[in-house]
Amino acid sequence: MRTLSDLGALQGKTVLLRADLNVPLKDGKITDDGRVRAALGTINELRESGAKIVVISHLGRPAGKVVDGLSLTPVAQRLTELLEVDVRFVADTVGQQAQEVVAELTEGDVLVLENLRFNAAETSKNAQERAEFAAQLAALANVFVLDGFGVVHREQASVTDVARLLPAAAGRLVATEVEMLKKLIDEPERPYIVVLGGSKVSDKLGVIDRLLDSVDTLLIGGGMVFTFLKAKGYDVAASLLESDQLDTVREYLSRAAEKGVEIVLPSDIVVAQRFAADSPFAVVSSAKIAESKFGDNGIGLDIGPESARDFAERIVAAKTVFWNGPMGVFEMPAFAQGTKTVAQALTKVQGVAVVGGGDSAAAVREFGFSDADFTHISTGGGASLEFLEGKKLPGLEEIA
Ligand code: ADP
Ligand code: MG
Repeated sequence: MRTLSDLGALQGKTVLLRADLNVPLKDGKITDDGRVRAALGTINELRESGAKIVVISHLGRPAGKVVDGLSLTPVAQRLTELLEVDVRFVADTVGQQAQEVVAELTEGDVLVLENLRFNAAETSKNAQERAEFAAQLAALANVFVLDGFGVVHREQASVTDVARLLPAAAGRLVATEVEMLKKLIDEPERPYIVVLGGSKVSDKLGVIDRLLDSVDTLLIGGGMVFTFLKAKGYDVAASLLESDQLDTVREYLSRAAEKGVEIVLPSDIVVAQRFAADSPFAVVSSAKIAESKFGDNGIGLDIGPESARDFAERIVAAKTVFWNGPMGVFEMPAFAQGTKTVAQALTKVQGVAVVGGGDSAAAVREFGFSDADFTHISTGGGASLEFLEGKKLPGLEEIA
């Protein structure tokens, strides 16, 4: 993979830096600035080399329209604070205003352009549309640096198309992410445990398929666990369920048994009356979710305390752990304990402990853990999963 040193001297050159500054926002405020912090290493290195830096990123899903609440303004502000330099910002991406400000940049300057996805061409399925937008982006700079790990698995104008138009390389973050995730693929030290949670089974099935060939144990929690429990014949009441995935899940369960891979499902579940932070709740055995006091209306919103302890004990004893996806609806304190217990356990692993996924990363920081408590916190959820699946990631292919 080409890295910054492969780009030669950058002094006086304009660098188009595709970062992933897609941070969670609440009322216009950044609730987790992890992705902004993760971008600092590359920006600082480029500043030291005397480059002029044009940072591009998406934020949320504006679907090709200008959405005021999804402006990168607060992100540029946060970058100013973290870099301790005046980061410039223009409310434009490839138009005249952007071109003018880029032309004014001097060595070491940092400019943030407005949200790439305000332009429909960025994520268009039409290659021609994407290529035209990429050409406008490329015209702003001399070289391209791909550093948004969260988007390397996407065929998008600012990821793949632009990389074909300029000398291109990975930034420090992408290089680190790849190095860390490789530790999970190239002969991981055993026991190797993967913990999967989060909301959608269908997002994570591909990776389970592949992991059955490499892991010793798979711990499953989060919203996806109910499809597994249902596949085992349990009634999951009103919990999240993807019925169309039941056959696939059954197939995985039997393949895991054949291969000697242990798939561990929680033995108890925190069941709530409603999907709400102040809902009454009860802890019941996983086999008896429909027999809680909420009957068929009960919704499983977290793994129970016994399961959390069991998961934690297994995690602490492992040598390699990858965790993606919260164990419950951690955004609501009453249903955050399972996720917290798992996060805590990862900090105690004597070996490699990697966290992947936007919500999982936000959760560990919200609980007060720091990046240093883990071997690595990946900035890319989908990208890290696809990497572990062994898929070719389009962005990385362009800088291979
Ligand atoms: P990540 O971003 O870490 O990859 P996901 O996006 O897959 O994780 O899933 C995160 C979401 O899953 C969180 O918003 C959380 O509330 C939700 N979730 C976890 N457990 C449940 C559950 N039992 N029912 C519904 N949603 C859940
Ligand atoms: Mg998520």
